[in-house]
Amino acid sequence: MKPLNQLTGRDLAKIKMIVFDVDGVLVPRGTKIKQEGNTTTLATKIIAKKQIKQIKALHKKGYLINISSGRGLYMLQAMFREVLPFVSLTYECGSATWYQGRLYQHFNSFKYTLDLFQKLQKAVMGKKDFKGFEPKEFIVTVHCKKRMKQVEATVKKEKGLTTIWNGEAYDILVKHDQTKALGLRRAMKIFKLKKENVLAIGDNYNDQELLREAGLPISADRTRVKGKFYIPLRGQLLPADLLMQKILSLETK
Ligand SMILES: [Mg+2]
Repeated sequence: MKPLNQLTGRDLAKIKMIVFDVDGVLVPRGTKIKQEGNTTTLATKIIAKKQIKQIKALHKKGYLINISSGRGLYMLQAMFREVLPFVSLTYECGSATWYQGRLYQHFNSFKYTLDLFQKLQKAVMGKKDFKGFEPKEFIVTVHCKKRMKQVEATVKKEKGLTTIWNGEAYDILVKHDQTKALGLRRAMKIFKLKKENVLAIGDNYNDQELLREAGLPISADRTRVKGKFYIPLRGQLLPADLLMQKILSLETK
């Protein structure tokens, strides 16, 4: 892996779409969530004005922008409100893509997760390390203060499902199939792109497959994921900020 400062205009010659993971890339990691009985309080994260400006500038330069997140669509729409006319949102770890008001569903997890939610509720509600279920449509996301064996044991008994722990929550997904990689492959079809046309940046374990599908993968945390380039995780600036600055500074098109 090379550091970002070695990225050149040549590396970007074929790039048409830039795919951003959200948490830890465009906004700091960490979710404020609290659940008491049937009341869930979940803070919407805000994308800084500076990043919105950078995204607009990339669009102006001719790049397609795809957001690939484990978050739900409602949250991504709120976060990216200002750039929605030209940004596609691939949500819940590749399960579906929203683009200009149209929905493209990539995966149907219904039969896998039919009873899961009730089982998990039983296993975690009232436990001291449980924080809350984040509202989702196609995956189940359980926020916890730390890893909870109750979650892992419950999911282990379910056929075909797996847990991905990201340091603050478990995403529960259909093994192998329900991934950000699937989401990216489908998004590439929507926009008629090849692998070599895609740059993707991610920072967490659920981004590894995403980065593998991209011609130009960029790691925002090289202790967790591998890319052709990496962004040093230090200082005040977010990885996406540094990457966008770099791309916007290069003569490419
Ligand atoms: Mg992330």
